[in-house]
Amino acid sequence: MTISTRSPNRRRRTAAALAAGAAFAIAAPLAATAPAVADANFPSTEGETSTASILDYADLVAELDKLERTSRFGLDVFTLAEAGTEVSTSEQGRDLYVATVGEGPEAVWLQGRIHGNEPYGAESLLAVLKELGTNGSPDWTLLRETYTFHVIPMYNPDGSELNIRHTILQDGSEKRIDLNRDWGVGKFEAVESEAFYEYWTMVDPAFAVDIHHQGLKREYGTGDDVTLSLGISLAPGGPTLPGVEGGAYDVLTRQMHVHVYDELAKAGYVNMDRYQVGGSLEIDIKGGVVSAMMLGLDHDGLNPEGHSNPAIFFETSGNTSDGSLGQKARGKSIKQNVLALQELLTGMATGEVQQEDPARWEEIPHAPVTGYQTDDGIIPASF
Ligand SMILES: [Zn+2]
Repeated sequence: MTISTRSPNRRRRTAAALAAGAAFAIAAPLAATAPAVADANFPSTEGETSTASILDYADLVAELDKLERTSRFGLDVFTLAEAGTEVSTSEQGRDLYVATVGEGPEAVWLQGRIHGNEPYGAESLLAVLKELGTNGSPDWTLLRETYTFHVIPMYNPDGSELNIRHTILQDGSEKRIDLNRDWGVGKFEAVESEAFYEYWTMVDPAFAVDIHHQGLKREYGTGDDVTLSLGISLAPGGPTLPGVEGGAYDVLTRQMHVHVYDELAKAGYVNMDRYQVGGSLEIDIKGGVVSAMMLGLDHDGLNPEGHSNPAIFFETSGNTSDGSLGQKARGKSIKQNVLALQELLTGMATGEVQQEDPARWEEIPHAPVTGYQTDDGIIPASF
C-alpha cells in the first residue's frame, strides 16, 4: 500500500474541532459479554483461552455506539476517516475508532490492544469510557473538566480479529508488523501507524497511557503472583529518558508509577511490580508508540514543533497466546486497569501525582537491574 505525499501546508485540525464533530450512528447488535465471576486464583495458572468470550471488533463498534447513545456528558465516537487523517483504516480495511469525552483544556491519550492478542485493554477502556460518559460523581466530573480524553480501545483491529500480536501487511508480502515497534525513523511500515500517528499530531496530548498483557509473572524476592506490572518504555535513569525534556518525564513517569502503586496497593486482589524483560532488564525501546511520543518524533513533517508527552503503560498478567489468560479472573483483570487509570487520572488532575517522591519508584518490587533492553540489543546497567 502506498502512502501519498502530504502537502507541507496541509492544515491541521485541532483536537477540539475533532471532538466536536463526527456524529456516529451504526446499527449493530448488542454485545453479549457477561462479566465473569472473580476467582481467588488471580492470575490463573490453569486459565483456558476461550477467545469466543473476548471482545471482537463488531462488539467494539456496538459497545462504542451504545456508550455514545447512553452518555450523559457528550461522549463522541468517530472513525479516523471522520477525523480527517490521510490514512484512516487498518491494513485489512477496518475503520479505526476513537472516542472523546470531556471538555478540559488538556488532552489525554488512552490506548489499548495495540497487540491484538492482549484483549483487556479494549475492555478496560470501554469501562472507563462508560464512567466518563455517565458518572456524575466529583472525581469523574473533575476529570471531564480538567481533560479532554481521546480513547482508542482497539488500536489493532486486524490483530484482534486474528488473536495475534501483529498486523499483517496487505502489500503482498504478508509481513507481520508489531505496531508497538513501528513509530520510528525509517519505520511506519503499517498503515495503522500512519493513521494513529497523524491523529496524535492533531491531539498533542499532555500525557498518555497504553494497556497491555504479559505472561504469568512472579514477584522478585517473594515469588507471589504478579497481577499488574507498571511500565515505562524508556527506562527512568536509563540511557535515554533522563535526556528528554530536561529530565521532566524521567521524574513524572516515576511519580505516576508511585501514585498508582500506593493507591492500588489498597486493593487486596492487585499485586504489582515494575515491568521488566528478561528477568532483570529495563526496557528502553525507541520505536514503541509511547516512546516515540516521549521523544517527540517528527514523522513526515507532521510534528514540526516537536510536541512530546510523557507516557506509561500497564501490563496485566495472563495472555491468550500462552493459554494463561485465566478467563475466570477476567473481572479482576479489567477492574485493576480501570482502577489504575482512575487513580492515575484523578491524581494527575488534583496534582497529587506531581507531589509524589519519584525516588520511591525504587520501592516498587523489581529485580536488581542488570541492563537495558534497547532496539539495538542489551546495554549493561553500567553504561
Ligand atoms: Zn503488548
